[in-house]
Amino acid sequence: MPGFEFWGDEERKEVNDVLETGILMRYGFDGPRKGIWKSKELETEICNTFGCKYAQLTSSGTAALTTAMAALGIGYGDEVIMPTFTFVASFEAVISVGAIPVLVDINETLTLDPLAVRAAITPKTRCIMPVHMCGSMADLEALMDICREHNLVLLEDACQSIGATYNGKKVGTIGDAGTFSFDFVKTITCGEGGVVMTNNESLYVKCDGYTDHGHDHAGVDRGADLHPFIGYNYRISELHAAVGLAQIRKLDQFLEIQRANQSVLKNILSAIPEITFREIPDGGVDSCTFLSWFLPTEEITKTVVEQLKEAGILAGNFYWYNNNWHYISKWDHLKNADFLNGQGTEITNTLKQLATKSFPASDRVMSRCISTAISLGWSESQVNEKGEKIADIVKQVLSKTMVTMG
Ligand SMILES: *Cc1c(COP(=O)(O)O)cnc(C)c1O
Repeated sequence: MPGFEFWGDEERKEVNDVLETGILMRYGFDGPRKGIWKSKELETEICNTFGCKYAQLTSSGTAALTTAMAALGIGYGDEVIMPTFTFVASFEAVISVGAIPVLVDINETLTLDPLAVRAAITPKTRCIMPVHMCGSMADLEALMDICREHNLVLLEDACQSIGATYNGKKVGTIGDAGTFSFDFVKTITCGEGGVVMTNNESLYVKCDGYTDHGHDHAGVDRGADLHPFIGYNYRISELHAAVGLAQIRKLDQFLEIQRANQSVLKNILSAIPEITFREIPDGGVDSCTFLSWFLPTEEITKTVVEQLKEAGILAGNFYWYNNNWHYISKWDHLKNADFLNGQGTEITNTLKQLATKSFPASDRVMSRCISTAISLGWSESQVNEKGEKIADIVKQVLSKTMVTMG
């Protein structure tokens, strides 16, 4: 799953190029950097690898989402529709630009349910932000139809699905803008980093300035740049970009291993008729960072999770329903509007209303879902062994449940 598993001489070489000159910043110092521009090089590689016209690196995936939203003009009073199952960064970014996150149900794709999205649209809605969780994507055709009908912006949070495709295009390059994260546990890593991708030149120019204090990057040197708008510092460093450059060249290899390992695991679990799998939308190809599977009931799933824990093989099998980072049921800090500083009443009131809302459709999906992380380092016999152990536990739990029920 994460690129850090394949750290090696390639990464060391790229980082060393930067250490030789000591120019750790991505802008300026044209003479002393001796032609070393790792961030620019990585942006070009991202455009070539994923098939987008423009790429703006950032210091994190969260910063990439914030940057994309600001550049798309999403701000105070605007509503952004997003799923109940994601990583906390998705709503953090919405709040950071002064907008309001509107959480809606997911379905068995583990991403936004287009019907729930439709039902959540108000006159304030500006943006739909699907989050392509755990290697696979939302039903983008359906979401794009809704965006066209209601004149909304589509921002893809593709942080977890680097390399997945939809109708032949890489996810993250299909909406008005899309983002990847290159944090330490993502498919490819920079240590920390992220990117905004788009085919829209003026949007890209805004992202470029926003991540660097509003600099227009048009002067003869940084001191001569103008500032057409207010920005922040969300820059990536040359050291981080250097790591990413080595990693992106290994992406095809990572994806190939993930697909092979996922398919072995899926074959083993498919032999159990009670197990079903995460739905992939028509035209979609999973990046296979996880295998996400469902059991018939919440009770059976919880028992299987307990048994996996008892057998010492829970690590790498994620039960998101009970997870503090990924599912709305545990986001108390969001529902309490626990901010360090003062915020508008509109945002705090909206968030506090979340505490009174329930999401039974999402609960029905998430309470039965286990995602098994696919490691790059597994040998074929290790995948087989893992799969067989999981399958044995599931069969035991199922047979006991059947006896009780019978
Ligand atoms: C990792 C992640 C992010 C943000 O990434 P960071 O680089 O850690 O800030 C955003 N959204 C999702 C779904 C993620 O998994």
